[in-house]
Amino acid sequence: MDLPNYAFFRGKIVPYSEAKVGVLTHGLNYGTAAFGGVRAYWNDADQQLWLFRPLDHYRRFLNSGKLLCMEFDQTPESLTQITIELLRTEAFRCDVYIRPLAYKADEIIGVRLHNLIDEFAIVALPFNRYVANDTNAHVTISSWRRVDDNVIPARGKIAGAYANSAFIKTDALRAGFDEALVLTNEGHISEGSAENVFMVRDGVLITPSITENILEGITRRTVMELARQEMGLQVVERPIDRTEVYLCDELFLSGTAAQITAATRVDHRPVGDAQMGPITTRLRELFNDVVRGRLPQYRHWNTAVYPA
Ligand code: PMP
Repeated sequence: MDLPNYAFFRGKIVPYSEAKVGVLTHGLNYGTAAFGGVRAYWNDADQQLWLFRPLDHYRRFLNSGKLLCMEFDQTPESLTQITIELLRTEAFRCDVYIRPLAYKADEIIGVRLHNLIDEFAIVALPFNRYVANDTNAHVTISSWRRVDDNVIPARGKIAGAYANSAFIKTDALRAGFDEALVLTNEGHISEGSAENVFMVRDGVLITPSITENILEGITRRTVMELARQEMGLQVVERPIDRTEVYLCDELFLSGTAAQITAATRVDHRPVGDAQMGPITTRLRELFNDVVRGRLPQYRHWNTAVYPA
């Protein structure tokens, strides 16, 4: 992966090599940081780079900061504007991943959230696929459990909680799988290491509710709306038992990085006939059109980076 050329750091756009923090930085030592992950998609026909749902992403980003008692003089709109300036400076003409990071910046010893300096930075870099087998992923059920809302709230993208995701992901990859689903302490399916999860059973699209220790995914919300509005599907949020994903007809992961990744095997068991199913296929097509600004009815989710 190439490094970015620039970063928004301490209030301005600087060369990426100047966006550095000291090793004592609180967020680095204690995980007292929160981040986001936004994508922008290049549309060659429009000669435009479309940011996908930046206001929703930055609303969640600021909320993650709020959980960490962070205070910023920023709004979703102002953070979107900074992002546009950064992407213009990089002059990207390709698909891009944007990483905003908010962190406790003090270089001190002492675990706490209050009376610390909050800083944020934004970087962006060219990005394509996140899960290699995104049409036929083999997933396992992780032996790790998902962080609980009363341990580290998963609804915030809190840096420290991603040690949990890293355990989940590494053990899955080393065991030969592409991803893992992780269970809540109660034993229900929560989500993937960095994706929400959906299954299709008897034509109904089902996903764990937001009280199942999931990140409230923006792709998840997008999928739910597209399934209802464009495909007339019934979408249900409810607890999912482990063995339901062994028996479902279709299974997929959703996330900004993973987009819509079809899982066709779970723990060596075929999902349906072990081929990406029709509902997943259609959702992927719709999603790809929506993020590239090709569907006028969803243009309100696309923010243009370059002047028209
Ligand atoms: N769950 C976790 C743990 C994640 O890290 C992500 C990626 N941000 C998601 C779900 C998907 O969220 P989104 O669709 O907003 O990217």
